[in-house]
Amino acid sequence: MALSETQKIELLAQLVAIKSVNGDEEKVAQFLQRYLADYWIKAQLVPVAKGRSCLVAKIGHGHPCLAVSGHLDIVLAEPAEWYSDPFTLTAKKDRLYGRGASDMKAGVAALVSALIALKQANEPKHGSLKLLLTVAEEVGQEGSRVLLEQGYLTDVDALLIAEPTNLELAYAHKGSMDIKVTSRGKSAHSSMPEEGYNALEPLIDFLYQTKQAFEKINQADELLGLASFNATVIKAGKQVNSLPAFAEAKINVRTTPLVDNQKVREILHLWKTKLNHTGAQLDLAIYLDQHPVKLASDSTLLKLACDLGKQYFHQEIKVIGLAPVTDASNLTQGKPTDFPLIIFGPGNKSVHQANEYVDKSQYLTFCELYPQLFTTYLAKN
Ligand SMILES: [Zn+2]
Repeated sequence: MALSETQKIELLAQLVAIKSVNGDEEKVAQFLQRYLADYWIKAQLVPVAKGRSCLVAKIGHGHPCLAVSGHLDIVLAEPAEWYSDPFTLTAKKDRLYGRGASDMKAGVAALVSALIALKQANEPKHGSLKLLLTVAEEVGQEGSRVLLEQGYLTDVDALLIAEPTNLELAYAHKGSMDIKVTSRGKSAHSSMPEEGYNALEPLIDFLYQTKQAFEKINQADELLGLASFNATVIKAGKQVNSLPAFAEAKINVRTTPLVDNQKVREILHLWKTKLNHTGAQLDLAIYLDQHPVKLASDSTLLKLACDLGKQYFHQEIKVIGLAPVTDASNLTQGKPTDFPLIIFGPGNKSVHQANEYVDKSQYLTFCELYPQLFTTYLAKN
């Protein structure tokens, strides 16, 4: 038997009750491993770091292999800002409130529920369905990287990510880079600047020059829009009458296929080298480097999802590009440009905020839609 409506809501409530903030996802992975085992689905935990494991499960056999994915981590919640306890799923009218309700425990629960429904119905009869639940999506994306590096994507022919898309559907999103720039100088009394080297000056110059160079090459992608480059953190100096010996800045860049990570890396290295030639001691660390994703806009999977979405939700499913990065950045690496990827899941724009919620009816409808989408896709390909 597939899960009942009550069981589906209960599953979501159990997931929300586990505080799987980024860095502490083990318990939710273990819970789901036990949960799936009750329905004769063997799931494997893939360790990423201490207290962090991804979960992988597969039903059916051979190709095509459709992977369906979601992340187990959530962002922090400040209970004082909430009307109800963020870790107790709370129903009000058609809304279910809780941290992760939208991003993305509803997506994870709907995938798990779909897997159970298919397994119980002896599906898929053709091809296989692979569940990939990751850790660290909100910060770092180490989970999806480990799955990629350990070969869990090798046999995958198509991918659905159940991130909340507000009843729209995406096949593309921007990339993201986090960069730390440090500058070393020599401290001196500000009345005798010739005795020292102000570490802040080349850093400011670097931020200015790289931003100018970036804007020169920036151009709009028809789906994703403009790339962006923002210095977001700067630290230097201890007191007003002393030259700082050290300065540090952080930059976040959102890339597109037209203005990609490689082009940004070139600008950063060019200006680091130029300024270091004039006496600066700048150093760069690119500590997040997620590529933009833009795959097939006309895949069977995408068309099928739009058709079923219209049928189940009685509205057109608009195809969009997403601004935030997802695990697709790692999970689709090395795949051909016509690889079918869709991002389509329950939830809305209340993510990362107090009083995050998912519409109960929307969540339950996705629990119905997914099994049909998965079996129809696998049978057709
Ligand atoms: Zn998410």
